[in-house]
Amino acid sequence: MRGVTGRPARLPRVTRDWVAIAKGLAPGFAARAAEHDREGSFPFENFRELREAGFFRLTVPRSHGGEEASLTTFLRVQEELAAGDGSTALALMMHLKTFGQEREAPAYPQHWFDELCRGAVEDGWLNNTAASEEGLGSPAGGGLPETEAVPTGSGWLLTGRKTFTTLSPVLHYFIVLARLPASGGEPPQVANFMVLRDDPGVRIDETWDSLSMRASGSHDLVLEAVSLPADRLMTRRALGSGDARGAAGMVWFALGLCATVTGVARAARDYAVAYARERTPNSNKTIKEYPGVRTRIARIDLLLQRSRAMTYDAAAAWESGAGDGMRAVDRVAAAKVDTVNSCIEAVDLAMRVVGGVSLRKSRPIERYFRDVRAPLHNPPLEDRALEQLARAALDEPPEPAPAVE
Ligand SMILES: Cc1cc2nc3c(=O)[nH]c(=O)nc-3n(C[C@H](O)[C@H](O)[C@H](O)COP(=O)(O)OP(=O)(O)OC[C@H]3O[C@@H](n4cnc5c(N)ncnc54)[C@H](O)[C@@H]3O)c2cc1C
Repeated sequence: MRGVTGRPARLPRVTRDWVAIAKGLAPGFAARAAEHDREGSFPFENFRELREAGFFRLTVPRSHGGEEASLTTFLRVQEELAAGDGSTALALMMHLKTFGQEREAPAYPQHWFDELCRGAVEDGWLNNTAASEEGLGSPAGGGLPETEAVPTGSGWLLTGRKTFTTLSPVLHYFIVLARLPASGGEPPQVANFMVLRDDPGVRIDETWDSLSMRASGSHDLVLEAVSLPADRLMTRRALGSGDARGAAGMVWFALGLCATVTGVARAARDYAVAYARERTPNSNKTIKEYPGVRTRIARIDLLLQRSRAMTYDAAAAWESGAGDGMRAVDRVAAAKVDTVNSCIEAVDLAMRVVGGVSLRKSRPIERYFRDVRAPLHNPPLEDRALEQLARAALDEPPEPAPAVE
């Protein structure tokens, strides 16, 4: 845990019920979601409400004026917000996960962590990583970014274009992955740089016009010869070497996605249940009487229960460091794969319960069907998560056999 850095210690604060507050905001988000989805516009009002309610500091450590929410509380909040609007929840998650992972495994320079916390608490400034690129795809694939940072003597000159920069309409801090110039026969190096919104040469191109999470503001970040002082270097490593944060980054991110898709699927479930209780085609029974509808609703609840169980089991294992059975990091990988697939299936079943009108743009379930798919394409991707499980089972040294007394 990071200590206080030159800031006065704060009095213990009364813990608020963040899950209940998130639940209270969700209906307002849901009411605005259709318009933002249709227009591909960013939900600025939702972010104003989130800021006013204190959510920007939810995972910031107490030593820095935040709420220091646990991983489990963060996930429960994500689920509630996503039940209102998936895009809003996904976008907020990008900001909140940074503090969670840095609390557990600091990788950024202390003065930048202090500044990220200060900005979130005092100014309502948000952060996210900008790593993906059109040519590179996901950096998790191990490729070299085209965005390049050239040393200038007094700092760095950064040039490139980042895709999928979620939250870009309101970001203040962009943590940008770039390659460093090749030197001799050394392995290529990559680094993360702190780029601020008002740095000259920084531009957002509003390119995000996608099937899913349309209101997440995941536009392109363009860096045109952005001149950065030397202290903007955040982390540096050889391409292919492990993340300095170890597994903490993956845990907060992957489980945040699990909670987000669970919230979206829950909204679809609730819509289908309410519809099945009411819908009575002319001269017929209410559709909830039909065995096919009943089975589908039951199966949706089974899938949602499984998703929650896997997500919160992985979080509990990570938080407690419990060593029994599957390792916590592998439970996280398993939860990511299974929860995203279960939630996609659950929303598909909910569409079948509602029937043909579920396809109409005027029905929110049509948006849930699209939104629930996006986290398929966020890391850890299915193939890599399964490979992690296979490696643990097949390639790593087996546990020593228990001693026989
Ligand atoms: C809604 C949304 C929000 C996002 N927000 C952000 C953000 O804020 N910041 C950010 O930096 N990125 C963000 N991303 C981008 C995301 O992290 C990925 O970089 C992006 O989805 C492209 O990943 P990909 O694996 O499909 O692409 P590619 O790397 O092009 O991969 C294409 C396919 O090939 C497979 N593949 C590629 N390389 C390998 C390999 N080495 N081994 C096995 N299989 C491989 C992949 O699994 C995939 O099936 C976001 C994406 C989405 C959908």
